[in-house]
Amino acid sequence: MAMTIVYEVGDKLYINLTNKCPCSCTFCIRQNGDGAYGSDSLWLDHDPSEQEVIEALEKADYKKYKEIVFCGYGEPTQRLDVLTAAAKYIKDNSDVPVRLNTNGLSDLIHNAPTARRLEGLIDTVSISLNAGTQAEYLRVTRPSFGEISYKAMQDFAKECKKYVPNTVFTVVDVIGEDEIKAAQDIADSLGIKLRVRKYEG
Ligand code: SF4
Repeated sequence: MAMTIVYEVGDKLYINLTNKCPCSCTFCIRQNGDGAYGSDSLWLDHDPSEQEVIEALEKADYKKYKEIVFCGYGEPTQRLDVLTAAAKYIKDNSDVPVRLNTNGLSDLIHNAPTARRLEGLIDTVSISLNAGTQAEYLRVTRPSFGEISYKAMQDFAKECKKYVPNTVFTVVDVIGEDEIKAAQDIADSLGIKLRVRKYEG
């Protein structure tokens, strides 16, 4: 099976650290075939080591990209040690901005506060708010941690604001006006920008 650890999306380079995730989102690309963004399969036959990620970055000539993004299939913070080590390698050797796309459940995954570990390594944290209400969030995201997830995700976002230059919430545009409005109210109350992105399922 092909192992796609890094893949190009336009002028950005995405890093695929794991297929594991505590959520089971109804819209997840993991449930819609095994190719994304024109890459080979993003299903990994094992979680890549720090060394494998660095080798993949070098092979892709990572310094030529406008941004490097930790993304999926899967939740990058499941591999927080490798994520931070790879981000440090990028920061130590280049000026390329680094983004983390996350479900925001890192503190629950690690049962500890984790946002501070991103300090100096991640420039933008993009957190999937997904919905404007807890009920809709749970219906859409189906997190294994259950009800506590919605608040834990928002608490993680608040913490990221302390340690990361740019923290952003995202929702997809198909959730309806009422949910988007409720999501905007949450984002505003936390002083976090909301990005409504186009659904590409
Ligand atoms: S959080 Fe991301 S990787 Fe996890 S199930 Fe949802 S969309 Fe998929």
